[in-house]
Amino acid sequence: MPIKSNLYVLDDDPQYADLLAEAAAKVGWRSISEQSAAAFFSYDLPKNVILVLDLNMPEMDGIEVIRTIAQREIDLQLILISGFDARVLHSAQQLAEAHNIKVLACLSKPIAIQEFIKTLDRIKLNPSFHGKTADEHNSISAEELVRAIKQHQLILYYQPQINIKTGVFKGVEALVRWKHPELGMIFPEQFISLAERNDLIDQLTEEVITIAVEQSKHWESESFITTISVNVSATNITSLCLPEQLKKLTDKYAIDPKRITLEITESAVMRELTSSLDVLNRLRMKGFSLSIDDFGTGYSSLSHLYQAPFVELKIDRHFIMRMLDDTEAMVIVKICIMLAHMLGMKVVAEGVETQEIWDKLELLGCDAAQGYFIAKPMPANDLIKWKRNRH
Ligand code: C2E
Ligand code: CA
Ligand code: CA
Repeated sequence: MPIKSNLYVLDDDPQYADLLAEAAAKVGWRSISEQSAAAFFSYDLPKNVILVLDLNMPEMDGIEVIRTIAQREIDLQLILISGFDARVLHSAQQLAEAHNIKVLACLSKPIAIQEFIKTLDRIKLNPSFHGKTADEHNSISAEELVRAIKQHQLILYYQPQINIKTGVFKGVEALVRWKHPELGMIFPEQFISLAERNDLIDQLTEEVITIAVEQSKHWESESFITTISVNVSATNITSLCLPEQLKKLTDKYAIDPKRITLEITESAVMRELTSSLDVLNRLRMKGFSLSIDDFGTGYSSLSHLYQAPFVELKIDRHFIMRMLDDTEAMVIVKICIMLAHMLGMKVVAEGVETQEIWDKLELLGCDAAQGYFIAKPMPANDLIKWKRNRH
């Protein structure tokens, strides 16, 4: 039988850990069992790992393990197990997914071995996991990215946002893509953290904002005036000259800064709060709009949120996508809308994929929506066509 991939079982109960590892080995996995998180993290992990993770462990519990995996950007997929009730498993799943860690299954203890094996069999069927492109993309180097920025291989796709109450077009979010000459289109999740780790994020953001401002000017010549939201990283907002740099750029193209919204993730703002407040306030004073992105996944305190000069709050798509099937996600969405409105902010729901979710958001008083239900991100030229056809 060919070996499928590496599977680790992390459970403080040695009997359980060994039982699951043995079962996996029997169906072709290279499996290893460990009883402590420290032992697991001491491995130099290969790519495409599956981790079967017990949430309830004495030293570092499963939730902390998930957070550490996210911080260290370890490439793995999870199967969560717990002796607690389903709610706990469920919240842990949400936490993992909010950190972009895929959860393949949640299993309650005692675990039926047959069910566990069935879960493993299904993994074999997931093409993207053993897919070649992901591996190829993971081998991208920082030097290549530098070259890509210099040679203008980065392009922007634009995704529309619609005012829910009026149905009127509100603006677009610019999402970066790398048009690689050999590998084809590469998505931001595969190179943003590379840029952040290698001190390239300031360059990348500058390139993205330049493209957006140039595009805005070009659209203006076609009588299409719109706001453009761009994503900025945590380290960008600690760069004290950012407000002046951006203002120079908008001046150069005679674009009103009001038409540029900077999206900053909640976790970025909280991590860099003191240094970022200075930059955020000066950006606001220069007329740029500020939006707090991926809201609901971080740990904001109300007073911090109140201090920072945001005009818009974007609810993370993981909550929006499951709000109709999941009462906890629904509660989070409702709280975000109320909170934003109480603090005088507009709310954008991202990841709106169906009419039903749109309708519910309308009932809840959400201001704007963005997602596949409206349109997927698209190249600049397609946006004009899309907008024309909408009418
Ligand atoms: P984000 O800011 O949360 O962007 C939304 C992501 O959700 C985009 O993925 C978009 O294609 C996707 N999306 C939109 N509508 C739907 C929907 O209805 N359903 C689903 N399932 N997904 C939807 P994308 O373009 O791959 O971007 C991923 C992340 O990369 C962004 O998340 C953002 O954090 C980061 N990013 C993108 N562009 C830039 C950039 O220029 N600079 C920086 N620093 N980060 C960027
Ligand atoms: Ca965003
Ligand atoms: Ca988001």
